[in-house]
Amino acid sequence: MMVNGSPRWTCRTHVSKVVADDQLEVAPLRNLPVIKDLATDMDPFFEKWVAAEAVFHPSKTRHDPMAAITPDDPMRIAASEAIECINCAVCYAACDVVESNPDYFGPAALNRSWSLVNDIRDDGQDVRLAAVGSNGGCHNCHSQQGCVQYCPNELNPTLSIAGLKRETTKALFRRSR
Ligand code: SF4
Ligand code: SF4
Repeated sequence: MMVNGSPRWTCRTHVSKVVADDQLEVAPLRNLPVIKDLATDMDPFFEKWVAAEAVFHPSKTRHDPMAAITPDDPMRIAASEAIECINCAVCYAACDVVESNPDYFGPAALNRSWSLVNDIRDDGQDVRLAAVGSNGGCHNCHSQQGCVQYCPNELNPTLSIAGLKRETTKALFRRSR
């Protein structure tokens, strides 16, 4: 929820760290429809994960051997850096572009898509890059890092989105050859 105007992971935030002038004002998380009191409807947040193809497309069945990926593989490292998202929507509430453009997928969905772009087991890269390069996608991001400032898990969605900008641009050139 919002605490003194900033998005916070409230179940893990000490009052002493966010209290201002002995005052504490709590409000529903920004950029989401309010159901009642402090409860927000998270559906638009998760619908954008689907729109951004932030879902795994398996390339193998459970009967195939598991893919061997070494921990020092650069793609594995990039995927791991973005993977510990807890779906709290704090970054979504922090994002001014989400506020001004309701179609924008937002930092969490795009961060998850970036993690999957770096997953060599995933078979949905063309459709994913088309989705994140579409009207609601990564090119809306102004890179000012409001999401990074407030993510309670110290993720960097801005960096992930920069990766998506790069990969969607490369895909555009590949298609125009
Ligand atoms: S850097 Fe991009 S995703 Fe993060 S808050 Fe700003 S516009 Fe939103
Ligand atoms: S990226 Fe961070 S702030 Fe955004 S939903 Fe995931 S954990 Fe929460």
